[in-house]
Amino acid sequence: MTDRKQAALDILERLIAFDTTSFKSNLALIDYVADYLTGHGIPSNIISDETGNKANLYATIGPRDRGGVALSGHTDVVPVEGQKWTSDPFTLTARGGRLYGRGTSDMKSFIACSLAMVPEMAARSLSLPIHLACSYDEEVGCIGVHGIVNHIQHDGVAPKIVVIGEPTEMSVVNAHKGCYGVNTTFTGLEAHSSATHAGVNAVAYAAEAIVFLQRLGEELKARTPDDDRFDPPFSTVHVGVVHGGTARNIIPRTCEVKWEVRALPGSGEDEEVRERFDAFVDETILPRMQAVHPDAGVSSDVIAHVRPLAPETDSPAETLVKLLTGTNQSHAVSYCTEGGVFQHAGMSAVVCGPGNILQAHKPDEFIETGQIDACLEFLDSLLDHLSA
Ligand SMILES: [Zn+2]
Repeated sequence: MTDRKQAALDILERLIAFDTTSFKSNLALIDYVADYLTGHGIPSNIISDETGNKANLYATIGPRDRGGVALSGHTDVVPVEGQKWTSDPFTLTARGGRLYGRGTSDMKSFIACSLAMVPEMAARSLSLPIHLACSYDEEVGCIGVHGIVNHIQHDGVAPKIVVIGEPTEMSVVNAHKGCYGVNTTFTGLEAHSSATHAGVNAVAYAAEAIVFLQRLGEELKARTPDDDRFDPPFSTVHVGVVHGGTARNIIPRTCEVKWEVRALPGSGEDEEVRERFDAFVDETILPRMQAVHPDAGVSSDVIAHVRPLAPETDSPAETLVKLLTGTNQSHAVSYCTEGGVFQHAGMSAVVCGPGNILQAHKPDEFIETGQIDACLEFLDSLLDHLSA
């Protein structure tokens, strides 16, 4: 085994051991990465959230007066609760050519490979910089990455290219859908269930809104897509959670509905659905609720807004990553990544990383060890390219 690969595996073992499930702090992992970088003479920018319990890390290696390439990965992982694991999810375990552990595919292996290359990055004289971007709270709606983008825009030169190392088995993904998530709360008026005229049934009004969303989804499905590489090839509308009422014989005062739109890039269908939903609520639902109880209301909070990644022909990111991975193919995926956020902020972004998305979020998540080799090879080619 090469020293480089041994380093990547050692670092991965450390990263997996930090339980960075999104609802927990990621600071221990961030401290570890910052200490590691300090050991190689590289300062880190730590960008905390407002609670101080979570942070992003952004570090630059090489010249600081020009764009270069950012390697972007999220540090958080999805929960293991309720899943049956064969071995401890937070102990990297090798079995049959695979490495098991939460975050092995999604996406600590990319971070581990990037960190394993840091000594070589620091030793080379780079003509363009490499930036390391490690975010928090990606899995709950790409929240942390906005702090990184904000930092980039205010404190330095933005990377020209961003590689998001989500698991693609090192193939090039130049397009993904967006994810627009909303919590809508219907607030009515409690009454005895026999007095339907005196109460405002929040569950019943929520049901009307859910049916409206369902019909919008069917309408979007019937449209002809601009990009049929997606599966499914249309924007989707989905209601995931409904929670309302306390007893059969009480008219329910509140009902919460959690829903989302996954829009095709360039379609604007997330905004369209939101506008039409709001209009439906304002014109069809609210007047009837408030005719009985003026304080009745409907409020919607956006809990995730991840922009789609739009394919850009011959974009700097796609051109470079195709060159480095030796492919002329690019793909589209239906899951969200931070790529859309970087692209929306004016940076050229593609998704390319080790591991397979099919292993992500599942019990016994694993990565094939060959994927570590492929990622290190890619990073080595990147270093050659940036040193030239
Ligand atoms: Zn991920």
